[in-house]
Amino acid sequence: MPKLSIRALEVENREVLMRVDFNVPLKDGEIADDTRIQAALPSIKHLLAAGAKLVLCSHLGRPKGDPDPQYSLRPVAVRLGELLGKEVGFADDCVGEAVAGLRAALAAGEILLLENTRFHAAEKGNDAEFAHALAGAATIFVNDAFGTAHRAHGSTEGVTHHVERSAMGFLIERELEFLSKKLESPERPFLVVLGGKKVSDKIEVITALLEKADSFLVGGAMAYTFLKAQGHEVGDSLVEDDKLELALEILAKAKEKEVTFLLPIDSRLTQEFKEGAETRVSTPYRDGGSIEANWEGIDIGDQAIEEFCAEVGRAKTIIWNGPMGVFELTSFEKGTKEVAQAIAEADALTIVGGGDSVTAVKKYNLDDAMSFISTGGGASLELLEGKELPGVAALSEI
Ligand code: AMP
Repeated sequence: MPKLSIRALEVENREVLMRVDFNVPLKDGEIADDTRIQAALPSIKHLLAAGAKLVLCSHLGRPKGDPDPQYSLRPVAVRLGELLGKEVGFADDCVGEAVAGLRAALAAGEILLLENTRFHAAEKGNDAEFAHALAGAATIFVNDAFGTAHRAHGSTEGVTHHVERSAMGFLIERELEFLSKKLESPERPFLVVLGGKKVSDKIEVITALLEKADSFLVGGAMAYTFLKAQGHEVGDSLVEDDKLELALEILAKAKEKEVTFLLPIDSRLTQEFKEGAETRVSTPYRDGGSIEANWEGIDIGDQAIEEFCAEVGRAKTIIWNGPMGVFELTSFEKGTKEVAQAIAEADALTIVGGGDSVTAVKKYNLDDAMSFISTGGGASLELLEGKELPGVAALSEI
């Protein structure tokens, strides 16, 4: 069922509680990157302009369920105030009498940020009493924190049971549009590009997308589990030996569904996992090539790059999740860089599915060339798996 959007809310003179994702990286008590604060601005500005008495809540970092000053949201209130050009109040806790007083004193168009919700163990425990206190006197709740929407916590799910209406903010709306709606009837060919470390992290997404996609490209370390399962020698490459059987099942399923499932035909190899290390490219696996002992596959090889980029060029819908190799080191980045560039140049709907691929896209300045870059790691994978996110499921229906 379609969920209520922030656009449809009447908020004038009403207290609105909004869950945002202000889980920003901190360095020496300073905000190292304010991207997440900036990303929340459209929903915040929209509610303030509409006359809401706005109360914001978020978690930050991983406190142990008790107050921990290093994870205080206070610096975020200051930064948000600078970005909005207006005063942002700050409450030392997210629940309690003093907080209720600050909330009650808000006028229309004013804004208050509550302290880290994870300073209470009840947040992760999704305790009903805590969620009730967090909802406070607000009758409207907005969730705009996509990165935690796959968790049923007090501030994402519990709170919805103590307000009249719960809506999604602009960020969640956009994530749902690209990771769910647009993929219901994708323009074809529909290509899934997967990489990264482990097959085990991506089994469910592979299984779900095998039902929808026309082809898969699999790079990164996870390719070696498939290659070994097929009988190739993979030397010292990372392999999940307990997933070989599963890899064969996935390959069989792809064949049965007539889904093209391309593994790298060759690999870039090294004997030393460090910047500037000597590398060479393996002979193609299809010609009986293999990786000798003491050599490790750390990127897809040159022929694989060519083949993968050609497949990318034919696609009309592309989802990319996971790097092709150890792109963090320049010596091993070629596969990820070239495939990322091909995706950016493709005449297709291009969706980058979160996590390390987003880091790669940013590294190569390709952000603007992609149709959509997801902000969630776990949450984006779960959406692609076709799962309902608890933080979204709990919102009001239209
Ligand atoms: P994931 O979090 O599963 O998406 O994995 C991302 C990580 O996988 C990145 O940090 C890459 O450096 C790493 N990675 C990709 N390919 C390889 C490879 N062939 N060998 C070792 N690590 C890899």
